[in-house]
Amino acid sequence: MIEVRNVTKTFGPTVALNDVSFSLRQGEILGFLGPNGAGKSTAMKIITTFLAADSGSVRVDGIDVMADPLKVRSLIGYLPENNPLYVDMLVSEYLKFVGQARGLSGNQLKQRTEWVIESCGIKSVLHKSINELSKGYKQRTGLAQALIHDPEILILDEPTSGLDPLQIIGIRELIHSLAKKKTIIFSTHILQEVAPVTDRVVIINNGNIIADGMIDDLQKQAMETNRLFVTINSPDAGNGLSDLEGVESVIELGNNRFEVRAPFDLDLRNDIVALSHQNSWQLLEIQEALFSLEDTFIALNQNSGGKVVDYV
Ligand code: ADP
Repeated sequence: MIEVRNVTKTFGPTVALNDVSFSLRQGEILGFLGPNGAGKSTAMKIITTFLAADSGSVRVDGIDVMADPLKVRSLIGYLPENNPLYVDMLVSEYLKFVGQARGLSGNQLKQRTEWVIESCGIKSVLHKSINELSKGYKQRTGLAQALIHDPEILILDEPTSGLDPLQIIGIRELIHSLAKKKTIIFSTHILQEVAPVTDRVVIINNGNIIADGMIDDLQKQAMETNRLFVTINSPDAGNGLSDLEGVESVIELGNNRFEVRAPFDLDLRNDIVALSHQNSWQLLEIQEALFSLEDTFIALNQNSGGKVVDYV
């Protein structure tokens, strides 16, 4: 549905995007993760046709963004970074205005307006001026304008930034409810924002894609080794575990607990269960140690050494 191929964008001496490629299938939600200044907004502006790349190509539903930007815009709902709204308008006036600008009229405009009011939860502020709204309601109004023409694709730039925890949950739920029907990219600089919304991430730093894949896989790969915590009630367990094929090391932690290390792509859990069974050992625990998202991000960054690394 979205294909970004070898996109580079510079602003004077700043390389905002360096040969960036990633893609997204229809119906997928992608968390676009990276610290401030990483290049997220620049990539989103290029996908939504508001900025031209220096080189590379972007296709949205098969259409080149440079060849037919108007068609591409009609397929996309875009919530830009600073959510620029017409602050002097009432929310109701604003929705009518953006609906008409999107080519809606008559019954269709009425139905779509009612739908976004309901799904974005903005009924109570319809007759308020936009500059009176709280940050959360401004963000909801921004989402409503992005959704009014029922686009297939949503590009949301930091949709939860500046919101309080309750408002964040509200926006997450809204994204979830839309996810069944839409293809969505949302950006964030907050690691913890991604997992509750989606499993698929692209991580960008200094204009380079440093990881692309499912969060679980990235966590395992970042660790480079697979670490299991195993508790077995037997004095022979340490030696037995060390003899298992592929085991790199066994560290005794005390109280019959061991840390077993193996290559990251080797899952030893079945072998440990079988070994315990054969020896009639009492197996009390097997726990996989995973990096936290923070550790993963740091490790992926270090591993990439600033270069593009394809983790898929
Ligand atoms: P993010 O959205 O991840 O915070 P941006 O895409 O906004 O990052 O910015 C990436 C880099 O490009 C930053 O170094 C930023 O300062 C620079 N940049 C973005 N837009 C402009 C611009 N219009 N003029 C000059 N530099 C820019």
